[in-house]
Amino acid sequence: MRKTRLLRGYDPQKDREDIETAARILREGGTVIIPTETVYGLAADACNPAAVEQIFIAKGRPADNPLIVHISDLGQLEGLVTRIPGQVGALAARFWPGPLTLVLPKSDKVPLVTSGGLDTVAVRMPSNPVARAILDAAGVPLAAPSANRSGIPSPTTAQHCRDDMWGRVDAIVESGECQVGVESTVLSLCTPVPTLLRPGAVTLEELRGVLGEVRMDPGVLEHLEDTAKAPSPGMKYTHYSPRAKVILVKGSPEQYGRYVTYHQDDGDFAMCFEEDIPYLDAPLASYGGQTDYRRQAHELFDVLRMLDKLEAERIFVHAPAPQGVGLAVYNRLIRAAGFLVVDLDQEPAGEAEKEE
Ligand code: AMP
Ligand code: MG
Repeated sequence: MRKTRLLRGYDPQKDREDIETAARILREGGTVIIPTETVYGLAADACNPAAVEQIFIAKGRPADNPLIVHISDLGQLEGLVTRIPGQVGALAARFWPGPLTLVLPKSDKVPLVTSGGLDTVAVRMPSNPVARAILDAAGVPLAAPSANRSGIPSPTTAQHCRDDMWGRVDAIVESGECQVGVESTVLSLCTPVPTLLRPGAVTLEELRGVLGEVRMDPGVLEHLEDTAKAPSPGMKYTHYSPRAKVILVKGSPEQYGRYVTYHQDDGDFAMCFEEDIPYLDAPLASYGGQTDYRRQAHELFDVLRMLDKLEAERIFVHAPAPQGVGLAVYNRLIRAAGFLVVDLDQEPAGEAEKEE
């Protein structure tokens, strides 16, 4: 077991000393959990293979699942890639710093352990002031996947990080709740047409507004039959799953409320929208309004983790519309549910009652 240090990272000025300590640990090849605007990240020097190896060990992450490399200024990008495609300028001007990750052709400076053996590298410039202060003080790009144990919901509070990673990392920089709550949007610029590999707070609609044509990879919404062909290795692994069984339910508040009330048993919970509450007679946790996708994203992982603490057996989650930031929420939930979706709009009348 590692001796994990708790550091404070609420304010880049007031917590200067702890930020310097975090940066020193990172420069020396250690692992530090840092806050970002998306979720907490488990960081190490992206160009130090031994340090990056420690991320995979702490998370229990499959070796072919690549990491995102975080930078604090555009100058750092040049060393990491062999070529900067033309679209990067407009995307960076509009979305960086922020929750957009770009997949680009990798230079030799990025070790293969970081890219999961691929010849491309995913790069992002975070906006969280503490993340930026740590990056600046460390002076090296940081590989930082979500700071959860592999497969379970990502951490959006320092408490989540302590629950998962105590004794597995060198330090945890405690800060507040992550503003966005889901991981960054991942866009590949290594395909003939830019391709959305993972939806996030930067939406497909916004990307199309800047680039024109953007493809959505089928793996965003569907289970890939042939996982060997996954364009983004993260797509093929179980993800975001609480211990409880998750069942994703599509339908109106009335349909959803009736379905859950009928099917719920001891130990089951509804993870619902505000609008559903009048139709529900079951233990419930709301995760926002039906079209308040940003709120849903912010609450998603915290509510899943809370229901695990309550020892939920099954969680009936009301699915958001797969549009805007709702696409990111939907993408996480279908994976949490192992692609088990009950679509009440598609069921002939009466059929829903029989459905298990
Ligand atoms: P995480 O850091 O836990 O948010 O996961 C990062 C995800 O980004 C991975 O699971 C991949 O799906 C995706 N990713 C990272 N690097 C690449 C890459 N070079 N090509 C395609 N997808 C990538
Ligand atoms: Mg992750």
